Amino acid sequence: MKILVINAGSSSLKYQLIDMETEQLMAKGLCERIGIDGHLKHSPLVGGKPVFDQDVPMPTHSEAIAAVIDKLTSAEYGVVSSMAEIDAVGHRVVHGGEKFASSVRIDDAVMAAIKECIPFAPLHNPANITGIEACRAVMGDVPMVAVFDTAFHQTMPGKAYMYALPYDYYAKDGIRRYGFHGTSHRYVSSRCAQLMGKPIEELKIISCHMGNGSSICAINGGKSVDTSMGFTPLVGLPMGTRCGDLDAGVIQFLMNKYGYNIDEVLNILNKKSGVLGVSGVSSDFRDLDNAAAEGNERAALALELFAYWVGKVVGSYVAAMNGVDAIIFTAGVGENSAAMRASIASYFGYLGVEIDPAANAKRGEDIMISTADSKVKVFVIPTNEELVIARDTCEIVG
Ligand code: ADP
Repeated sequence: MKILVINAGSSSLKYQLIDMETEQLMAKGLCERIGIDGHLKHSPLVGGKPVFDQDVPMPTHSEAIAAVIDKLTSAEYGVVSSMAEIDAVGHRVVHGGEKFASSVRIDDAVMAAIKECIPFAPLHNPANITGIEACRAVMGDVPMVAVFDTAFHQTMPGKAYMYALPYDYYAKDGIRRYGFHGTSHRYVSSRCAQLMGKPIEELKIISCHMGNGSSICAINGGKSVDTSMGFTPLVGLPMGTRCGDLDAGVIQFLMNKYGYNIDEVLNILNKKSGVLGVSGVSSDFRDLDNAAAEGNERAALALELFAYWVGKVVGSYVAAMNGVDAIIFTAGVGENSAAMRASIASYFGYLGVEIDPAANAKRGEDIMISTADSKVKVFVIPTNEELVIARDTCEIVG
């Protein structure tokens, strides 16, 4: 079975075609500037075909999908002979609210339910819906599945997902913690159990997804029991440009002092804060490493603050689960920055964690970076959200 995985943003669309017999990635690509002009980079990964990297007019997502199908099936750049070889499509959908605790086959009722979740993710869900509708228009009856970022966290107990607000805001309006990056936390935790050779049902795992956006998840017996993002992906850890946890009183102070409206304040909290805001240098951790090495104290402070928050949240999840067997680092920073991993691990001494510097220096593979004697094991596991989407799609479509 060959599965097309689609991750549609407002002006971009990422895709992968995966052969599920072998889980081999056959092609991947990115459409950009949809609705502006349009550009497609398509990389075939089997058959020795060349990369296509050119402007293609994309007034809407439909032209983008049509261009993707055209390239996937073309003689020059293609990896399949016709669209009929694509058995199903798996779509990433950011927010499934409380309606979706797992992936589902898309039909009209599911589309309506995804639309009902738009108020929870006003930037993301409309783009995901546009991607699904464009795919349905271009690909007709090909079965499609929605895989939600929030679904994995639907196992959180009330004590973890409730805000201490008047109860009606939860009951009537659905204001609660939902959490994100669920597909990534699910993938790396199940891979971790495999690497440890133990059933996931017997393990307490803490997974640290650290990229441009970052979140931590406590996974007890394979189920998410707490996670650091909340009603929106703004909170929890400080991130590339997002502030993370913040006293709501700061919002009132900024509005009163500078005359900002709420959109202006949220723009600051979402786009100008995090390690970018603290350092004044960059949201990219590589730039911060370089600046800190050259003596930039604010860049060093931003890096210290990030490591401190990861250490602190991990500690709170050890308490939440009354123990931990393994801690995982994943995503851009987690997979690539040995220095950040070591800095974070300095907060794990009380757990009996010992990092093996030689293992920690390696890159790009699933690896245990703690010593064999370490009481709690620490892993680097490159995330693969697309593979989870493809696996769910394959299983649901059968
Ligand atoms: P996204 O959340 O957008 O999916 P990624 O998981 O791709 O992000 O992570 C992107 C981030 O990873 C970049 O902003 C960069 O800070 C960080 N990163 C990538 N490579 C390195 C590296 N070698 N050292 C430190 N940070 C890195």
